Amino acid sequence: MSELRDLYQEVILDHNRRPRNFGPLEGANRTAQGHNPLCGDRLALHLQVEDDRIADVRFEGSGCAISKASASMMTDAVKGRTTAEADALFRTFHAMVTAAPGTLPDIEALGKLAVFAGVAEFPARVKCASLAWHTLEAALHNPGAVASTEDETEHDA
Ligand code: ZN
Repeated sequence: MSELRDLYQEVILDHNRRPRNFGPLEGANRTAQGHNPLCGDRLALHLQVEDDRIADVRFEGSGCAISKASASMMTDAVKGRTTAEADALFRTFHAMVTAAPGTLPDIEALGKLAVFAGVAEFPARVKCASLAWHTLEAALHNPGAVASTEDETEHDA
């Protein structure tokens, strides 16, 4: 896994320095907030969903390098996908970061997101890496909600 670890460092640094899809989204019709109180990560996710497809997605917020890189890569990964495809990707991603350390990720399904496999070794970081995904689920299925990593269900603030 050491090659994956080097790639992980490189990808996290790159996306943290130059986050993709960062900023407000004009024409957004779904939004949700995400909060990871353990680390202090906060983000707001804006989606434009058309005919059950994520036509565009952008995020704003502040947090650690992992949360920001994860949000950057998540937005890249789900843009253009149907909500069902995004849901499936969320489940695959979540299974990867909560798998037993050393478990090989489903690279075919995850693509670049597989670099987050190493996070499974650091339980505190799992929440940083999955915050953007929980927020995505809230935006798709419970718009306007606040997703918190401290409770797996979404609720209104
Ligand atoms: Zn964090």
